[in-house]
Amino acid sequence: MSVNRSICPDIYHPAIARDGLLTRLRIPGGVLNESQCLTIASLLESLSLEYIQVTNRANLQLRSLAKDLDRELLIKLADCGLAAGNSAVDGIRNIMTSPTAGIDSQELIDVRPLADAWHEYLTEHPELGVLSSKFSVGFDGGGSVGIVDRPNDITLLAVGDREFSLYLGMSERGDPPLPVGVRLDSDECVPMLAAIAQSYRRGIEVLGGDARRKPRLRDAIGYYGLTGFGAVVQREFGTSKRFIFKNPELERDLGEENGDVAQKLPILSERHLGVHQQRQSDCYYLGVVLPLGRWTGAQVRGVGNIAVRYGSGQIRLTPWQNLIIPDVKAIDLARVQGLINDLSLVTTANHPSSLLRACAGASGCQFGATDTQRDAIALSEYLAANFTLDRPLNIHFSGCDKSCAQHDRADITLWGDERTRSYRLAIGGITDRSEPEPSDLFAPPAVPIAIGNLIAAYHHQRHPQESFQSFTTRQSPAQLHQILHAV
Ligand code: SF4
Repeated sequence: MSVNRSICPDIYHPAIARDGLLTRLRIPGGVLNESQCLTIASLLESLSLEYIQVTNRANLQLRSLAKDLDRELLIKLADCGLAAGNSAVDGIRNIMTSPTAGIDSQELIDVRPLADAWHEYLTEHPELGVLSSKFSVGFDGGGSVGIVDRPNDITLLAVGDREFSLYLGMSERGDPPLPVGVRLDSDECVPMLAAIAQSYRRGIEVLGGDARRKPRLRDAIGYYGLTGFGAVVQREFGTSKRFIFKNPELERDLGEENGDVAQKLPILSERHLGVHQQRQSDCYYLGVVLPLGRWTGAQVRGVGNIAVRYGSGQIRLTPWQNLIIPDVKAIDLARVQGLINDLSLVTTANHPSSLLRACAGASGCQFGATDTQRDAIALSEYLAANFTLDRPLNIHFSGCDKSCAQHDRADITLWGDERTRSYRLAIGGITDRSEPEPSDLFAPPAVPIAIGNLIAAYHHQRHPQESFQSFTTRQSPAQLHQILHAV
């Protein structure tokens, strides 16, 4: 196994991080079975690691490895489907699907067969190993738990019972992809993805770049122009269908007219948590909170056992770093809830950990000014001990202003200040990058009290049914300062 000096590791090419080697297991669509859970649990034991971590692409990562995984272990992981059989493409980002694909009572199309077919295409085309490892594809079935707002390079969103809308990511800032005016029949989706991937590969040959900074799909689109890139893709796709890639800003309106789900509904990342009726009669799924995506060996084994005994043996990982146990009968729900609690896990969306996000921070990343993982866990424990939240709160810790863990707005964002190793705090996303005043900074031990003050003020001073966002927006900067710094 060789060490990958790029920033995106895979199981065959771990990356060097501050806390040791970092590697990722590829889990297409985030779907695991019980035997894979057992393999993961024994992997953690053999490596003496406390936990594996679900990522925001619904795959798994191992941190703090002292040495490479040996060949025998790699073969075992590939044999049980935890690594691509083809090491050339294992590093390409995990294929994302709606985590409730096939069980969502509102979905238009079950996208799992498409994700499998795309995974197979990638595995059979090692020449695509030259693509940036950040090349990312998502399939959204148009149901209640959508992923079209996740920052993929390409997303296919179901807009009818056989039709998809093509979305392309063109933003430097990790914004969601936008529709480009192309509608595809289900059986045209994989050929279209193949045509885009092969056109992108040819674009890389023109654009150059090196192993550390390969051109992204958006660079290839920028080089040809959107319509020009569409023409290149058309040549690759063939003439069975004619299409033109159009300006996504115009398509935003078009999407509304045509009823694209993403244009109408805000996607709530906690929607999958708790107990939900499936489209199959007398079947339910349970969304389980994993604090910061951390899943201990005992919990991996325990969840695998629950899934086998009370479900269909399947476990779904989500892009919000949680998991889903599907196919549980109504009669077993209370028992399963109890067993989940026995594993020190919860299913409530209002738990302080349910929407807590933190990047690797100072313990794992050279750019981290603060230990985000440690500080986020400390805050979660403080809030769990002192508050009962009556609605989910999204709190995002970032070790610097790059926001790797969450690109979209959070209710509260804390980011590390390099000079003081303290946190700056913003309601919403990072907007102010100017030099902070000392009074705007919070040393890590002061963060739980400050956030606790804010939540207490919200609970006691809000109008009936007022959202956290509305409450904080109507406070002046001076009022917010006073609340946060109250003793
Ligand atoms: S946000 Fe900054 S500190 Fe956190 S992982 Fe990204 S680069 Fe590293």
